[in-house]
Amino acid sequence: MFTFDMIDESELRNAENTDVCEDCFGTGTKIDPVKGAMPCPCRKSEHFRKLLSAARIPRRYEKCSFGNFISSPGTSQDDAVVHAHKFADQYPAVSRGLLFMGAAGTGKTHLAVSILRHLIDKGFGGLFCEFGSLLKEIQDSYNPISKSSELKVLAPVFQADVLVLDELGATVPTEWVRDTMYQIINKRYNDNKLTIFTTNYLDKSTELEERITYRLRSRLYEMCTNVVIEGEDYRRRRRPDFQ
Ligand SMILES: [Zn+2]
Repeated sequence: MFTFDMIDESELRNAENTDVCEDCFGTGTKIDPVKGAMPCPCRKSEHFRKLLSAARIPRRYEKCSFGNFISSPGTSQDDAVVHAHKFADQYPAVSRGLLFMGAAGTGKTHLAVSILRHLIDKGFGGLFCEFGSLLKEIQDSYNPISKSSELKVLAPVFQADVLVLDELGATVPTEWVRDTMYQIINKRYNDNKLTIFTTNYLDKSTELEERITYRLRSRLYEMCTNVVIEGEDYRRRRRPDFQ
């Protein structure tokens, strides 16, 4: 009679993975002729791939990095790059998030994604979330035939060590929207989690405050360093697939 004891473990590994690494044969440890047993580089790339897919960077932005962000010296865009790069370089020794404010097309999302990618290159995880889509997902989870639950939608948002919340304030601010925004952001604030926000609304003339309420605006002050990007439309000078 067949029993599970009869399965050879290495065979099982081969069955799961058709292209087994030639250096370590899927064990994760390779034998270096000089250094002896050492972690196989294939495991590092596997880790990288996992982090990258867990970050859920939208296809539209997947190529965004510091390397392809172009800014003119001495502009507010240039200052924004300095802030973003500093955050990514110093992480995890960072205590405040960033709030990128500026008109559409000034490169806010490009910079936020560049930070995530830089962190992933360093082996840390993060999550990208477009605020409007997140609110939609939460609403959809209330539908009784939905397979998802509010908690299932929110768990990664609460747990991410670094969260990019893109397009804050872009959704029509109903009472439910304002309340939900506050709950999410306040939870991250209480848990001391770092959040990077982008918004098209500026502090001048209390635009942002009107969209997100005063209490949330003051939370953001405590959580983030403000980075205002002014200037010409970034996308006009770039290939259209970048923001
Ligand atoms: Zn290997």
